[in-house]
This record gives sequence, structure tokens and C-alpha cells, in this order.
Amino acid sequence: MDLAQVIPGLGAYARTTVRLHPRPGSPGPRDSHIGGPLAWPASEAWPHCEAADCDLYLEDPGSPMVALVQLTAADFPEITFPDGTDLLQILWCVGYHGGVEDVPCRVVWRRAAEVTEILQEPPVPDLEDELPGFYETYIPRPCVLHPERVIEYPWIWDLPEDLRDRVQAWDQDKDQYEQLSTAPGFKIGGTAIHGSVPSGLKCVVCDAPTVLFLQLDNGEGDGRWCAVEDGQPDYGTPEYEQVYTPTGMLIDVGPGGLLACSADFGHPVVFHRQ
Ligand SMILES: [Zn+2]
Ligand SMILES: [Zn+2]
Repeated sequence: MDLAQVIPGLGAYARTTVRLHPRPGSPGPRDSHIGGPLAWPASEAWPHCEAADCDLYLEDPGSPMVALVQLTAADFPEITFPDGTDLLQILWCVGYHGGVEDVPCRVVWRRAAEVTEILQEPPVPDLEDELPGFYETYIPRPCVLHPERVIEYPWIWDLPEDLRDRVQAWDQDKDQYEQLSTAPGFKIGGTAIHGSVPSGLKCVVCDAPTVLFLQLDNGEGDGRWCAVEDGQPDYGTPEYEQVYTPTGMLIDVGPGGLLACSADFGHPVVFHRQ
């Protein structure tokens, strides 16, 4: 359903988000992916989590971070890459840090052509003595991406009052707007699923408002946002798992998001979840 057609004035608030549609696969180190191998220079130190409260911190330099996502400028022209870069890599620590927020993340922008020799066997967190499956819920299985551009609209409380009244007059079911205006699953930009990240957060460096950069989810979400190409696999089958829980990650009860500074993507990003 095109919400702008049924709610006059809403069209001015449309914004594009890129759904990633990860699916288990074997992405290469120069591809866009979730959880695959990074084009990381063999000569460059692999990032480690140095947080003092990290429960995986055993010895210097801390626990190795895990590759979360790699995106190329060619696949994602809507991302504003800093001058001279065309490859974005995001890593995070899968350890426990005393709370549900602020998972240590590392964001790296680089020029792909400058990576001539790729690190073949990056270090991995030592989980041998840990509870099986506990930390693994934050380690994505390698997935290839199928980017899809869709239109989203802001949270109802972020709309001007007159427009909000029109939305409420139309939305007799009370949750139609919320479900149709923002996409679940894995996406770049757009609007976070309501309640998954706090609103009004400011950049810790420059105080500019933060924006959703990357939404991570447990799966692809319910029927309203299903891709036609996926068909309707039966619950519990391998085909279902491929479509609805492709990365195998369990973020939380709902999605979480990496928030970036709206003024400068070079400023620290923070991760929030429900
Ligand atoms: Zn850590
Ligand atoms: Zn900033």
C-alpha cells in the first residue's frame, strides 16, 4: 500500500531506505555482505575490543572483533563515503559489557584498491570455555546481500500535528501506519522500527542529531514486508530459516540499530537495541 496516496501531505516526508535482504551464501572478500570475509590488509592490525568491562577480555590487546558488515560504494551509492574511499567495514565485539547498549563497534572506511594483500586468517574470539551458543548469537553467518530500495515514513510522533491527525483518522486499526511506514529486518538508513532505538540521541563528539545508519534484526520480519521472490516456505524448514533468520543472529526481542552522527560519519557510532 502506498501510504502517500491515502494520507494527503505524507508524501513530503518520504525517504528511501535500502533493505539488505541477506541470505546465507559464500561472499568474497571484495563483495558487499553480512558476516563474510573482509578485505582487510594483511599489514594492518585486526581490531580488538579494549573495553575494560568486556567479559571476553583476557589479555592485551583484548578480544578480537567480529566482521559484521562490508559494503561497497558501487552497491550502495546512497551512502556518503568520505572522499577517496569506496569500502565500508563494520566490526563489533560479541562479548558482554554489563548492559544491553553501547556494544563496542569499529567503523572503517577505506579504498578497496589499496588493499592488495588480504589478511587470510583474522583472529577470532576465544569462546572455547564459554557457554555454547551464547556469544554466537552475535556472530552473523556469511550472507550475500540483495539490496532493495523502499520508501519509508517517519514515526507518527515525529510528524507535524496536522499530519499526525490525518494519519490517526485513517489508521482505524491503530497499528497499520506503524507497520507499513517502517521496514523490519536489515537495512541502511531510513527509520528505525519504533522503540528499537531511543529518539533524540546526540553525537557524543559534536552534539549533532544521530541518524539510523544500519538496522540489524533477528530476521526479515512478518508477512507485510516479505519479498515475493522468497515464496512462502513452511515454518521450521531449512528454506524458512534461509529467508526469515538468514544471519542466525539474535539481536534482542526486536531489532537494534547503529546510530551515526548526521554531521560527520567519522564520529563514533553507537549501537542500541530493544
Ligand atoms: Zn568487548
Ligand atoms: Zn558528530
